[in-house]
Amino acid sequence: MDLSILTIPGHLPTHLPFKQVKSGFFNLSTVWSGEDPLADSLTRPLEIPCLVHNTQRDGPIVGITAAIHGDESNGCFVLANLFRELREGSIKIESGVLVGFPVVNIEGFLQATRLWRGKDLNREFLLSRRGFVAEYARRFLHSYVSQLDLLIDLHAVSRVHKSALHIRADLTDPVAVRMAHKLRVPIVVHQPSPAGSMRHAAFSEFGIHSVCIEVGSALTLAPDQTRQTVAGLAEFLGDLDRPTPVPGHPLSSRSPLICGGVNWVRSPCAGLPELICSPGEIIEPGQQLGKVYSLAGDCITKVIYPVSQRRGVVLSQLSAPGAVPQYELVRVGWLADPGAFAAPCSSWTRGRRTAAGKGAAR
Ligand SMILES: [Zn+2]
Repeated sequence: MDLSILTIPGHLPTHLPFKQVKSGFFNLSTVWSGEDPLADSLTRPLEIPCLVHNTQRDGPIVGITAAIHGDESNGCFVLANLFRELREGSIKIESGVLVGFPVVNIEGFLQATRLWRGKDLNREFLLSRRGFVAEYARRFLHSYVSQLDLLIDLHAVSRVHKSALHIRADLTDPVAVRMAHKLRVPIVVHQPSPAGSMRHAAFSEFGIHSVCIEVGSALTLAPDQTRQTVAGLAEFLGDLDRPTPVPGHPLSSRSPLICGGVNWVRSPCAGLPELICSPGEIIEPGQQLGKVYSLAGDCITKVIYPVSQRRGVVLSQLSAPGAVPQYELVRVGWLADPGAFAAPCSSWTRGRRTAAGKGAAR
């Protein structure tokens, strides 16, 4: 069951630390032996694309992962553009190593589907899981993710929603708060990663701090959000050690909106929703967000942001023409006082692991 790696030219063995790898594009090729759930890979090794930019100077190893859901390909474009600009010199990194995994869910990406063999890869990072996808998750985590100091996981909202660019992170984690501020994404949502996700496993097993960036929608190109994400990453990577502006500080003029959590406004009935809000818009409790029409064209109901909720920002909203009862129409991040969460930390350190070897879940 041991993982062995083809070391043919252009391929990168996993036992080689990223710090010793020169900049380039690699395929992390895997072969398996014996009674192995990945036996079909014996004849066709999985090739995991990997981009490395090594400054040859001390600093953190920053990993960026994309397409862990195979249909969320805007992250692939983010990495392609980022590494091209690094090669051309229009983006510079002073220290450390940047490692990009543009396609984590290989089969899902090739088939333009979210899942891999019917499984959500981003819920398979659990020791209790069995089977092909869980085995891949385990090896990817232990061979590659374990080497990182910081992790940025690129996602997208569902194909039937359109969204504002936003970060999801555990804002009780000072390192994640610092990452979120330096990435210059306009909206940051407090949302700890769920058990079984890569980010949750990265912290609980190795103390690796992370954030997730939602870039556009699945299967839909989002050039503006892709460009904005690359610009934020360039600023983040260009000067990792520069102090982070804290809320209220004069340098914080571009501070993001901080959301304490999310809630959905759901369709109360089946029909044709017509939404008048837009992603990134600030909304007030009691505000009308649209109407739902019958197939005959009559207005069945108004879509209202409940008065019981707090002032919020539209994170995403339905872009498909039809809805059924309880369908998710508008996802709202409710606005919170940034002081309610952790202040940004001053250094990039891994999480402290408990005696049992597990960090607190992030
Ligand atoms: Zn995703």
